Amino acid sequence: VSASGKASYDENDKAILMVGVTIDITEQKLLQQQKDEFIGIASHELKTPVTSIKAYTQVLERILTQKGDTREASMISKMDAQLNRLNSLIGDLLDVTKINSGRLQFNYTTFDFNHLITEVVEDLQRTTEKHNLIEDLQPTGFIHADRERISQVLVNFITNAIKYSPHTKNIIINTHLNNDEVVVSVQDFGIGISKEKQQRVFEQFYRVSGETQHTFPGLGLGLYISSEIIKREGGRIWVESEEGQGSIFYFSLPVRKPVDHNN
Ligand code: ADP
Repeated sequence: VSASGKASYDENDKAILMVGVTIDITEQKLLQQQKDEFIGIASHELKTPVTSIKAYTQVLERILTQKGDTREASMISKMDAQLNRLNSLIGDLLDVTKINSGRLQFNYTTFDFNHLITEVVEDLQRTTEKHNLIEDLQPTGFIHADRERISQVLVNFITNAIKYSPHTKNIIINTHLNNDEVVVSVQDFGIGISKEKQQRVFEQFYRVSGETQHTFPGLGLGLYISSEIIKREGGRIWVESEEGQGSIFYFSLPVRKPVDHNN
């Protein structure tokens, strides 16, 4: 921002100082805006054909299953799983552009927190045979938040726990109350994260090390989006981890009692 001053005179010949303020959008900022806009448009354009292909694969899978072509049906089902992955990558890119331009929207409802956890855990257990998702849920109660967005954070924690623990089986999902907040943790016994890198994992595009790209694919956006969601919901997000031992990812949210409209 730059300011410049210039003297002028009113009808009584009294000097008035005119101040002009110019907001200088630096070239870097402009580039960042253009990059965000491009990612937004590109991911939006990618979403449409993926949705259409997905609809066709589902019809095909049904037809093949009915015909008893189980081998072909299972190939189509694998295609569908990859399309889900593609959809979720595109969704992450769209969310990031929304966050960066302040357009991430929330739809609030009041819901039973542990119900949501069980729903997500059951869904994700179906996607893995190698891992055992263990629920350790203490009574929590109701929260007032965007259910879809909270579910998105949980999915991110659990899919990360699965991805980054290729040689261990158990993943423990705990919920408990801590004063006026509900706390969730997802613990794995996988590769872990060194102390100095733990704080950086919530940054946009941050991945612990470049060479893991081949072994553990990803864009480095999930935890950034999760932390933005939890911050907006008035909660906290953090990690405890030991390299080579595993990680525990946490988030907390303020508790709300369900509103009784009859009183
Ligand atoms: P992505 O998994 O797509 O790279 P995230 O934003 O979800 O992106 O995670 C950022 C980074 O944090 C990952 O690249 C990984 O290095 C590290 N990380 C996240 N979860 C775990 C975990 N459960 N165990 C070990 N490292 C993790």
